Amino acid sequence: MAPGRINLIGEHTDYNDGFVLPAAIDRSIVFGMNLNDGNIFRFYSIDYDEYFETKEISQRDYKFPWVSYLIGVLAQFQKEGISLKGIDCVFGGDIPIGSGLSSSAAIECGFATGLNELYKANIEKYQLTLMAQKAEHEYAGVLCGIMDQYASMFGRKDQVFKLDCRDHEHEYFPLDLEDHVIVLCDTRVKHKLADSAYNKRRQECDDGVRTLQEFDRSVIALRDADQTLMQKHKDSFDPLIFKRCMYVVKENQRVLKACKALKKKDFKTFGLLMYQSHEGLQRDYEVSCDELDVLVDLTREMDFVLGSRMMGGGFGGCTINLIEKSSLNNFTQLISKGYKESTGMSPNIYSVKIEDGAKAFG
Ligand code: ADP
Ligand code: MG
Repeated sequence: MAPGRINLIGEHTDYNDGFVLPAAIDRSIVFGMNLNDGNIFRFYSIDYDEYFETKEISQRDYKFPWVSYLIGVLAQFQKEGISLKGIDCVFGGDIPIGSGLSSSAAIECGFATGLNELYKANIEKYQLTLMAQKAEHEYAGVLCGIMDQYASMFGRKDQVFKLDCRDHEHEYFPLDLEDHVIVLCDTRVKHKLADSAYNKRRQECDDGVRTLQEFDRSVIALRDADQTLMQKHKDSFDPLIFKRCMYVVKENQRVLKACKALKKKDFKTFGLLMYQSHEGLQRDYEVSCDELDVLVDLTREMDFVLGSRMMGGGFGGCTINLIEKSSLNNFTQLISKGYKESTGMSPNIYSVKIEDGAKAFG
């Protein structure tokens, strides 16, 4: 089994070698797996009620999109020199799909963890994490950073961790929210643009790095830039690229500030940083959408909401909100009503608990 994840702050910073603040949650994908006698891979998705079997793993496109994640992981085991025996695998879960909670990473990490046991491969968790990420790159075609798979693998109950996406060093600390609770509001939309825009943003960031490198060879990723350096060379940037890169630079700084605030239990400051993060994603990085903005804007009128922002790649999915526990019912009612009035749809709203990362049982 492997969980989905939230990210408290630090959006689109992971592939810029920056910082993120994720945690694994109490929603997961669970696998039943066994070796079979043949050399065939058999998969059944409970949630889609779809069955697929194959003997070869060189393809990228399969009849059902979910197959790619699993085959992608198998391919990584093969690359590690493990001889692939046939597998029967059935899986399903309760992570909202395509909502920015990384159901895809949970599939990759859960399957990788199960294969590691069945093949007795003894691959360390860190290596499995990298393999899961590669499966997403190579087979799903999404050039995701390391955060999603890392959180799904390394999450710990009641703790968040600051992850340095450059050297993958991570620092856990307890998430003691006292009288507050984390609530997700799912727009229940995912606009088609999501994956292509994600890859485009990555290119835009690389573009920005190339510009900075003309002046400073020590800049390897946007993580190495600060606002002063950016401003100094502003004229050398295409204005759009400048705006994108400036968002990333500021968001990285916000993660560090947010960690300090959380450790001090300064939830007010933490909440303000969440709002700032959203504004950057909306106006500068331009990966939000009307539905996400509606959800965040609704909270601005509510004095029991400390912070709210879109979470995940963007163009749909969830917002993450920090609210006073005693107002959870009120929050749910107001958001449901407001969202319905603006969009005609009902959002899914749920509070989340922080849980352990991927595990193999028996
Ligand atoms: P996210 O990772 O944010 O949830 P993605 O678009 O990256 O969204 O991944 C969603 C895809 O992962 C789905 O289209 C599907 O192929 C696969 N997937 C996720 N959850 C399940 C599930 N419970 N059963 C089968 N496939 C799933
Ligand atoms: Mg995903």
